[in-house]
Amino acid sequence: MEKILIVEDEPALLETLSYNLTRQGYEVVQASDGLVALKLAREQQPDLVVLDVMLPGLDGFEVCRILRKETSIPILMLTARADEVDKVVGLEMGADDYLTKPFSMRELLARVKAHLRRIRIIREEMVAENAAASTPLPAEPTFTFTNLIIDDNRREVLLNQQPLRLKPKEYDLLLFLARHRGIALSRDLILERVWGWEYDGNSRTVDVHVRWLREKIEADAANPTRIVTVRSIGYRFEG
Ligand code: CA
Repeated sequence: MEKILIVEDEPALLETLSYNLTRQGYEVVQASDGLVALKLAREQQPDLVVLDVMLPGLDGFEVCRILRKETSIPILMLTARADEVDKVVGLEMGADDYLTKPFSMRELLARVKAHLRRIRIIREEMVAENAAASTPLPAEPTFTFTNLIIDDNRREVLLNQQPLRLKPKEYDLLLFLARHRGIALSRDLILERVWGWEYDGNSRTVDVHVRWLREKIEADAANPTRIVTVRSIGYRFEG
């Protein structure tokens, strides 16, 4: 469960934010002033902070500046003023994003979700890259898995010495999987790395391409042994 620290001194708004974020399945920690916020951020190690600018004692900018020295978690600032100064100052202090009051709860939830997803993918990438780094890459960008050969110099895939016709994204997906052989990769990570941030698709895109690939490279696509499904995560390439 992801944990969110909400820092807001207006009781009604604090209540509304807590209610909505809890209902989305997040664990919520609350603070209504800057000093308590810093204390809770250190003790509770939240995954994201929703931080009001105007707070008694230490204001949101100051809290943001101090937190940013200690952690890289996303900080989403809330400001009452619609002027650009708050935004600029907030971003200079290291905030990742900001919303001007009054904001829609839907918008806030969407931003929270997007930031947490980004952080999750970055963490996963680090794990996958570390694992991939410990497996020495072949000198030539060619991957051989018994009767399946991926030649990245020629962007060519051979199965039983016969060239396979792959769509560009099928090729990219197969290459990404092959480079991370033996590692469980989430659909989100695959989507981000093969299709890119800008792509407006969803994880079903990954499933569809995996299905197409399986039809081409598996002996029996209904019982895949090369690209195996990892339940509730995504896929793992076995070779
Ligand atoms: Ca306030």
